[in-house]
Amino acid sequence: MTWPTPICHGLAFALMLVVGASARGSCQQRERVPNLDGLASEAAAHLAEYLRINTSNPPGRELEAARFLKTLFEREGIEVMLGAERANVFARLRGNGTERGIALLHHMDVVPADSADWSVPPFGGVIRDGYVYGRGALDMKGDAMVHALAMIALKRSGVPLTRDVVFIGNADEEAGSRGAEIFVARHADLLTNVGFLITEGGFNPAATGVRPPIFGVSVSEKRAVWQRLTVVGTASHGSRPRADNPAARLVTALARLVAYQAPVHVTPAARRYLAAIAPGYEGRQRQWLLDVEHAVHDSAAKEWLLSQPIWNALLRNTMSLTVLQGSVKTNVIPRTATTELDIRVLPDQDVDSILNVLKRVAADSSVHWTDVIAPGLPLGSAWTSLSGSYSTFNPSHDHSA
Ligand SMILES: [Zn+2]
Repeated sequence: MTWPTPICHGLAFALMLVVGASARGSCQQRERVPNLDGLASEAAAHLAEYLRINTSNPPGRELEAARFLKTLFEREGIEVMLGAERANVFARLRGNGTERGIALLHHMDVVPADSADWSVPPFGGVIRDGYVYGRGALDMKGDAMVHALAMIALKRSGVPLTRDVVFIGNADEEAGSRGAEIFVARHADLLTNVGFLITEGGFNPAATGVRPPIFGVSVSEKRAVWQRLTVVGTASHGSRPRADNPAARLVTALARLVAYQAPVHVTPAARRYLAAIAPGYEGRQRQWLLDVEHAVHDSAAKEWLLSQPIWNALLRNTMSLTVLQGSVKTNVIPRTATTELDIRVLPDQDVDSILNVLKRVAADSSVHWTDVIAPGLPLGSAWTSLSGSYSTFNPSHDHSA
């Protein structure tokens, strides 16, 4: 699979956002907005170079990426610092401090890529037909270049800033988030005057022509509850099957689990989001979105809503079967069989009770469940404060939407 990134749209949007947030005010200031000419091709070239740095996690190897970013900022005379080993990187444009700063955050690591699944080398940084291809172009080195070029454009323009604009590149987002944890533990002082954070996540149809335009804001997150399931049996020869073949036992329990669908649960944030995007739809679909709590009791509405993977994930706890391991040899019955499940729990749901439900569904006490990563704490809804902040960026914002 390839992940093309059309660089221009995202760049223009982020620049508008940062410029609008940082240099609004007098006409005199408005005349000094950054010159965007040529920035798109500059961004594409930098992105291609960034994609050539293989930061597959594990193991990550983010230091090389951090050094690449440091050089980018140093060339522009932008204050930048980075850590050692699996480094985080931090850059800053200082404002006069009258308003709270904006942080532009991305993670430098990417998930692994198997070149057999790609039509271009995943770490080749190929530019073709107006797109940049490579592992991480969307998640999230493309964002990083939008962030970096926004800062570079501001710096070159000499726009007087009313607030700091800071850039953060984190290590290890894809496998444990140690980079972010260490950054907060050691360098919280760098963020004391930061009031806003722009990063990945959520879904923004703003660039797709939807009217009225929608600017999504993530107010909470599902929790990742990654589980490893193990069954232990007796290693033996495939020519003499035994009743305690752990692989057979595991797939039988898994068949029950993958057939299970969690009930629909509409969180306040999901209800408000779906109602807000309803004007982009017609007829009964619009009505369903306007009152999703009612609509999910209608079979046609429910089927339509859940047929969209992103809404399905928004409206229920989900479980994806990902890793599956037994024997490595056709005629060998393994001693253990394991699987890993990517379980995502809605922010207002109790993790222990969800796991207990799944264990009951699996209905096999020989299956041992362990955490792959410990579930994080729920993130509370920040809708109220965020919608207030949003209106400061968008004076024409309609508070009813
Ligand atoms: Zn990501």
